[in-house]
Amino acid sequence: MPDIESFGMFIDGQQVPALSGRTFESTNPWTGTTWATMADGGPEDVDRAVASSRAAYEGEWGRMTGFDRARILRRVADAITDDADRLARLEVNDSGKLLREMLGQLQGLGTWYSYFSGLADKLEGRTVPQVNPSTYFGYTTKTPIGVVGAITPWNSPLLLLTFKLAPLLAAGCTCVVKPSEHAPASTVAFAEVLHAAGLPAGVLNVVTGWDRSTGERLASHEGVDKVAFTGSTATGIKVAQAAVANVNRVTLELGGKSPQVVFPDADLDAAANGLVAGVFAATGQTCMAGSRLVVHESVRDELVAKVVARAEAIQQGDPTDAATEMGPVANQPQYEKVLGYLQGARDEGWTIATGGEPNADLGGLFVKPTVVVAEHDATIAREEVFGPVLTAYTFTDEDEAVRLANDTPYGLAGAVWTKDVHRAHRVAHAIKAGTVWINAYRVVAPNMPFGGFGMSGIGRENGSAAVEEYLETKSVYVELTGGTRDPFKLG
Ligand code: NAD
Repeated sequence: MPDIESFGMFIDGQQVPALSGRTFESTNPWTGTTWATMADGGPEDVDRAVASSRAAYEGEWGRMTGFDRARILRRVADAITDDADRLARLEVNDSGKLLREMLGQLQGLGTWYSYFSGLADKLEGRTVPQVNPSTYFGYTTKTPIGVVGAITPWNSPLLLLTFKLAPLLAAGCTCVVKPSEHAPASTVAFAEVLHAAGLPAGVLNVVTGWDRSTGERLASHEGVDKVAFTGSTATGIKVAQAAVANVNRVTLELGGKSPQVVFPDADLDAAANGLVAGVFAATGQTCMAGSRLVVHESVRDELVAKVVARAEAIQQGDPTDAATEMGPVANQPQYEKVLGYLQGARDEGWTIATGGEPNADLGGLFVKPTVVVAEHDATIAREEVFGPVLTAYTFTDEDEAVRLANDTPYGLAGAVWTKDVHRAHRVAHAIKAGTVWINAYRVVAPNMPFGGFGMSGIGRENGSAAVEEYLETKSVYVELTGGTRDPFKLG
């Protein structure tokens, strides 16, 4: 029996227990056993974390220049890379994701902090030409928003936190993060690494908690200036409503039902590979999962056969084994949700080309990689499953392909597969989504904006503009003549 690790919350530069003294257990979805106990923070712990982040913002961190912050961010980048192995293993214990995927993610994460370190000392305002330039000189400055409340989901907690944290630190903000109750441990260890690398106490505080009250308190907290949320669309709407009650700024990174549009001239082997990457990697538990295959009718059978062959060869098992390609679903409620959608697809009469059931050889939370052949109005073609389930349906011409690809309230991502360069750009342009890949899938980078159209979110993460999401703009007018003016006239 392996030792059970124990994690506090991370507040003011150290791990602390919940004020109530309560704890909760974190279960490893591969072993099915408790591997860690976590501090079960409540609203009162959110209050002290927000107070700590406010004090840091108004203290040492707030007085630092962009040059100072850039230096710290560069050290953070190196520290994460040095600790990538340990942090990746914590993520695997919590979420059952593949060690090889999480190692890659953690080894790449430093790039985000080094990229945003390069922006921390370039937060420039503008001089603005005035209508009456001999009387007024005008300029703008950029000011950090203040204290950010970040709420993150259980899939890739550190990558998704980093999408917020790297730009908000570059901007000069501080942060209280509430990680998912299903994968909380790595965030605490991560905050410790950043603190040891030189991030002052209170700049990043972590509150863990089992029930919803922790996130609810953070989203509605009057001491928070902005809420940055990643999670489901249903929760995102509640978080935004709570934040708006304080007229707080909000960024929402929400769900998706992203289309992969395959034309008959595409390299079908490459497309099959992209479909595997899009919907079976990470057991399909990614917001950008390419879960809809919108395929030309003339190549549907051939492409579906290729994807089915690939799906049936996927090796499921121990996430820490380098040969494993798909781990378990991350937690029991999500497992039940995926099976519920598969039962629904059967009830609606759609064809399960492969999978569609638990993997009985492995038991636990394993679901077989699944391909469903359906029509575009099937429930499983419209709703986010967040599991290893691809739903395929056909089009006859380009107009219909675009119409079907866009027939969704979501708009996070999509792909077009074709060798025709004109069509590739035309369709990429027409797909309503924040990210479109041409003959590729599931690529993200610190310098490329990421975010959703429609019900997939508000705002953008990554890219230089992400820093703007954490800045306020101030306009300054300077009177140049030293005289008085008509007090009853504007301007
Ligand atoms: P979720 O919405 O259930 O939970 C997300 C976070 O919100 C968790 O920390 C949770 O504890 C917290 N929370 C729950 N109720 C709350 C409330 N009322 N107030 C405040 N906080 C609350 O999502 P999940 O199941 O953890 O993650 C899966 C979802 O996240 C999927 O829909 C997926 O598409 C989405 N996601 C989006 C992106 C993106 O960048 N667009 C990335 C990853 C995941």
